[in-house]
Amino acid sequence: MTDWKNPPRLFIPGPVKVDDDVLQQLSLPTLGHRLPEYSDLHGETVDMLKKIFFTEQNIFLSTSSASGIWEAAIRNCVDFDETVLCTMCGAFSDKWSSVVKSCGRKVEELKVDWGRAITPELIDAKLATGKYAAITMVYNETSTGLANPVYEISKMMKEKHPDVMVFVDSVSAMVGLPLHFDELGWDITFASVQKAFAIPPGMAVALVSDRALAKSEKVPYRGYYFDFQAFAKTAAKNQTPTTPSIPHIMAINYQCKKLVKEGMENVWNRHKKMAKYVRAWAKENFDLFCEDRYASDTLTTIKNTKGISVADTIKAIKEKHNTVFGNGYGKLKEDTFRIAHMGDIKMDDLKELLGWIDEELK
Ligand SMILES: *Cc1c(COP(=O)(O)O)cnc(C)c1O
Repeated sequence: MTDWKNPPRLFIPGPVKVDDDVLQQLSLPTLGHRLPEYSDLHGETVDMLKKIFFTEQNIFLSTSSASGIWEAAIRNCVDFDETVLCTMCGAFSDKWSSVVKSCGRKVEELKVDWGRAITPELIDAKLATGKYAAITMVYNETSTGLANPVYEISKMMKEKHPDVMVFVDSVSAMVGLPLHFDELGWDITFASVQKAFAIPPGMAVALVSDRALAKSEKVPYRGYYFDFQAFAKTAAKNQTPTTPSIPHIMAINYQCKKLVKEGMENVWNRHKKMAKYVRAWAKENFDLFCEDRYASDTLTTIKNTKGISVADTIKAIKEKHNTVFGNGYGKLKEDTFRIAHMGDIKMDDLKELLGWIDEELK
């Protein structure tokens, strides 16, 4: 048996380390979810999220992990005779395509090699070949450590394909990377809270455009649990359709207060600073897996150019320091390793971790 009550400090790209003051929010007295206290908590939280993501549109709090919103996006906003273009550049963006298929909708795939970015030109060329109701993409590809150029893509979409809806998985980007929802013109984006929100897993935050909400009204068989119409109806009362994970919302509220106080520019810069530090270390000792200019500010995927045993190194640091970082994702298990620098991880934490890896490399 492991000592799961004294687990290792986490530098994996989710769940990430959660600070004690945040954990305490999850043990506050509970509220009745149809009582005014809850509505106050909900309303205040949503108002702060609107500031954090620069939006005047809809924010839904979903008691599910982010994967639930993948399915919600398709079931609410794509009709059965419509086709979705899934852009794919790694393990998580690939999953969008599986979700579309499993919901019985038609899919076309636009693939690039892992470690490469999806560009506006690639999407534009593909959209010219057919009729698509929506495109899917991932903001930050957690397998390859790459942030797609989403602002450039969005600019192109608004100019050339304004009728095509845009669904973006921002799970490992939200909070850590700039996200001006209304300016980007996206229809749906979301994250689970165990990434850069730095909260234990169990909840997702979804941003839904007014256009996406209007579309959902016309799509049949949206399902019950993730019906956007039900979310909108209850959101008007600062409630959720079913009983939410209220402790998580208390923690989201707490984290949002800190983010609003710090200011999002400062939050993004803090992530950028940590990323620069880890990237410099990575280039000195190994190399980056993805193209340098697209390297993410929330996690770094390092190419194992020295052929070290990633598994053994992780094991050694776990045994000596009760700390773990991430191995490569899926097929990249031993070819890369991943270090998260998001949420409440601090520069000093990273210096400590990289120092320990240095020792193992000697
Ligand atoms: C972690 C992650 C997911 C999966 O999130 P769940 O909370 O497990 O549903 C999806 N997409 C990306 C980009 C991720 O990093």
